[in-house]
Amino acid sequence: MTTRPQTIAFIGLGNMGGPMAANLVRAGHAVRGFDLAPASLEAARAEGVAVAGSVLEAVEGASAVVTMLPAGRHVVEVWSQVAGAVPAGTLLIDSSTVDVASAREAHALAEARSCPAIDAPVSGGTGGAKAGTLTFMAGGSEQAFAAAEPILKRMGRSVFHCGAAGAGQAAKICNNMILGISMIGVCEAFALGEKLGLSQQALFDVASVSSGQCWSLTTYCPVPGPVPTSPANTGYRPGFAAALMLKDLRLAQEAAGTAGAATPLGAEAERLYARFDAQGHGGQDFSAIVQMLRGPREEV
Ligand code: NAD
Repeated sequence: MTTRPQTIAFIGLGNMGGPMAANLVRAGHAVRGFDLAPASLEAARAEGVAVAGSVLEAVEGASAVVTMLPAGRHVVEVWSQVAGAVPAGTLLIDSSTVDVASAREAHALAEARSCPAIDAPVSGGTGGAKAGTLTFMAGGSEQAFAAAEPILKRMGRSVFHCGAAGAGQAAKICNNMILGISMIGVCEAFALGEKLGLSQQALFDVASVSSGQCWSLTTYCPVPGPVPTSPANTGYRPGFAAALMLKDLRLAQEAAGTAGAATPLGAEAERLYARFDAQGHGGQDFSAIVQMLRGPREEV
């Protein structure tokens, strides 16, 4: 297998997959894409992706296939089709965020076809997808990772091999569980500080160089002002939507249940984001949960 396949099939050309496929085109690959949504296909065509009429048409003659789909059931469905059609040795990469069990099911489909495969979910959001600065966390064999790494590097800045099949998804949900919990912690501190008469800037100045320092505070500050580039300064336009954070926290709880891991704060973070989503805020950036946490103590 060459390290730089001539033709890459890309299935799922949405908010993330569209710009990722465009970066592969920019890197010199011939990319054949498919998506169920006509608007996504048109946007991809404008970026130089050759649009196919089906999954099977997209993968014909491709030496690697990348999928970027909403959830585990979509990945298993598409990989079933792909594995039934491609020759042995075709590299399969899934970058969607899905449950660990579905990721392993997809790996098994690939293995039955003698296709090297990795789960390689991403962190970095739509901004990272456009800029080609995503972080990939991959699970699969050494051989599959070595084949996939050059392709992933064309869409991202950092690529980690986390372990065997499913390890990429495990890293992703563990990281995002930290993120959901830490964001809620930072929001609670601002809400408490406000009620104690502490200015937001004073809390930021102290905590950002003290033991409360974390990414949710210093890069993604949930109140406007201290970090001018955070979504709080643009009316909480995402960024990373609260509905997607809820999805990832649910995946973490599902995995914790299966693995028998105690994750009480992860469970509470899921409950709070579910409440925020049910109030109609799923489309806002996940840092907007500060508004709910400012509410009356007995209502949160
Ligand atoms: P999206 O809904 O914009 O895109 C998914 C695309 O998949 C859609 O265009 C849909 O039409 C297509 N699709 C669904 N089923 C299909 C099928 N059977 N065949 C072909 N196409 C099909 O979602 P997105 O924001 O691009 O996210 C994709 C994945 O990346 C998700 O798993 C998400 O959790 C993950 N993710 C998203 C972000 C983000 O900030 N948006 C960040 C990190 C990870």
